[in-house]
Amino acid sequence: MKNLIIILFSILLLTSCEMSNVSYDDSGTSNNEKTETVIKPDDVEIAFEKIISTSRKSGSDGEYSTAQYLDEQLTLMGYKSEIVPFDVYRNDIDYYFNDFFNINPFNEEPIATSNNVIAEKDFDMNKKTIVFSAHYDASRNSIGATDNGSGTAVLLETAKLIEPYIKNLDYNVRIIFFGSEEYYLSGSKSYVSNLDSDELDNIIGCFNIDMTSTKEWRKMFIDCKESLFSNEFLRLNPSFETMTMGASDEISFFKKDIMSLRFTTVDIFDENFDSKALVDESENEYVETEFIKEDANIIFNFMKNLDIDNLYNN
Ligand SMILES: [Zn+2]
Repeated sequence: MKNLIIILFSILLLTSCEMSNVSYDDSGTSNNEKTETVIKPDDVEIAFEKIISTSRKSGSDGEYSTAQYLDEQLTLMGYKSEIVPFDVYRNDIDYYFNDFFNINPFNEEPIATSNNVIAEKDFDMNKKTIVFSAHYDASRNSIGATDNGSGTAVLLETAKLIEPYIKNLDYNVRIIFFGSEEYYLSGSKSYVSNLDSDELDNIIGCFNIDMTSTKEWRKMFIDCKESLFSNEFLRLNPSFETMTMGASDEISFFKKDIMSLRFTTVDIFDENFDSKALVDESENEYVETEFIKEDANIIFNFMKNLDIDNLYNN
């Protein structure tokens, strides 16, 4: 009986969604006007809270439900989005440094399945492509507010801002949320490994976002080997400093000779910076939503104003 009530209630809920074109005036009486119910993507505060509402370790349920959320949000924005699964295999630091693209060095069964979320809009084969990426997984059982709920929320907001302009840009925008970055960059490694030579040729840059928008240790950095791509970013954002750590998914692109950089606002050289606190982060102590908006706007303006001709040697 209890089940029956639940079923009936569920049907009522489902039907009421379709009946929401009945609107009410101030007096509370129905005026039967046909108004479309438009589901909009979440505001940045809600999106960020949603992303960090669960831990997102490589291959976990939390990681997967976050992939679904990002895919849903991108679809609501008007992108053609897909969740692309990949196997994660055991790896180690020696293979990471010496045989980077060996996805399964020990020739074993996968230890996990993870997912990349890949979105595009108005893709034009005659244009080159720039990848804008952020990893959405987190280390251990951290909620990863700083690393990298911050960058994930920034990229989602950037995707929303740039969406109406994409058709008029002289390059294709590809938005990618990588899974399993915290495990030897598995998501980006899998992604670039599966590109054929034409697809690799078509990508001229990777703009990766990792650890942003904190109220502490805030300083504006791009992390990269100098390239025409980083020069173009610095031309438009001269106040940024550069570092050359090489710490995230941009490395997978760099190793395929694609110009890449990491956008970060966390000054890991700050004497108060505490990397351990980030690994065990159980609530958001550091990230400020106002800075998520600010950082998204910096990247949005770069996307709109970059001069693609400056990315070629001539
Ligand atoms: Zn990270």
